[in-house]
Amino acid sequence: MIPAVLPTYTRAPLSFVRGEGSWLVAGDGSRYLDLGAGIAVNALGHAHPALVAALGAQAAQLWHVSNLYNIPQQERLAALLVEHTFADTVFFTNSGTETAELAIKMARKYWHDLGQPERTGIVTFEGAFHGRSTGAIAAAGSEKMTRGFGPLMPGFRVLPFGDHDALRAAVTDRTAAVMLEPIQGEGGIRLLPDACLRGLRDLCDATGALMILDEVQCGMGRTGRLFAHEWAGITPDIMMVAKGIGGGFPLGAVLATQRAASGMVAGTHGSTYGGNPLGCAVGAAVVGIIADPAFLAEVTRKGALFRQKLEGLVAAHPTVFEGVRGRGLMLGLKCRIAPADVVKAGYAQQVLTVPAADNVLRLLPALNIPDEDLAEAAARLERAAISLEKAAVA
Ligand SMILES: *Cc1c(COP(=O)(O)O)cnc(C)c1O
Repeated sequence: MIPAVLPTYTRAPLSFVRGEGSWLVAGDGSRYLDLGAGIAVNALGHAHPALVAALGAQAAQLWHVSNLYNIPQQERLAALLVEHTFADTVFFTNSGTETAELAIKMARKYWHDLGQPERTGIVTFEGAFHGRSTGAIAAAGSEKMTRGFGPLMPGFRVLPFGDHDALRAAVTDRTAAVMLEPIQGEGGIRLLPDACLRGLRDLCDATGALMILDEVQCGMGRTGRLFAHEWAGITPDIMMVAKGIGGGFPLGAVLATQRAASGMVAGTHGSTYGGNPLGCAVGAAVVGIIADPAFLAEVTRKGALFRQKLEGLVAAHPTVFEGVRGRGLMLGLKCRIAPADVVKAGYAQQVLTVPAADNVLRLLPALNIPDEDLAEAAARLERAAISLEKAAVA
């Protein structure tokens, strides 16, 4: 019989009753060190006092009014994002996949309104993940996500990752937009080199194609800059943000330049919940903390510290791990065995990690994780590696 909860997830036999910073506590009181942070969502850890206070204060005042009315919390968060980024304007959603929907619509509407309605093609990349809506699965194009769900939304061209010639051939003055993650998350912490991102920006400028960056996972301070593209010194035309921006409250945002957003006039897009007072009150608290240059410098320092410990793990356990990759606190341990097995061995050591494609174990801890928890994380991962080595010998 089908379970009461639709069985679309493969879940670990764990559940938690409480969270404290980088720790999750199970019903029996056992404590797990959380290096997944709800897949980069709990960017400030669990139960951060400033976020609890922001949510509590807003909850006591007003939860929801709909976008029929002005929402001051939304205006405040949008102003913060505009202040700290390339963007001139922001639309709020409840999730990452909804940001993909608007990014696609915005790019197509832009060309439509410029009198080129046939300019609808969007170039994307293998290994990408943009969410689970019908538009987002068409954009990523992976067989695993699309099989059985056709016909897919037309207009996407999925290119191999890192093939410059294919890219130059595919992005032309008939391309509406190029859409990509500066660092692929689900794809296995695959970082697009800064020089490639700059080259892609040049290609977009030369052809007019809009650049859509999906920073749902790599954004919001994860790499040590507020957004990952800042490392390359370029700016996109449209950017997708979600996950960390709500710190655990469902919130997403599409950021855009005035030019890219020019077609999105009244009536062209909307969301009942998007940008509601609860989400935006929490989001403003999150952005207020993470956008501080001192906070971001700490992310970079912690990332380097953790990376060094992970390099030590790789050197000490070469039959389990192959290498470290990523940036800041968006790190991947390339494994020589199935990463799901390493995740499982981690459960026995009460450390939580997330598998990704390309045989990579993802480490996405809270951005404010204390140094001693990073040391503890490395120790627990080491014990997990030792248990796997013993099992391989046995
Ligand atoms: C998680 C993710 C999404 C989808 O976000 P949802 O909130 O699950 O819809 C889109 N893009 C990237 C890069 C993601 O990591």
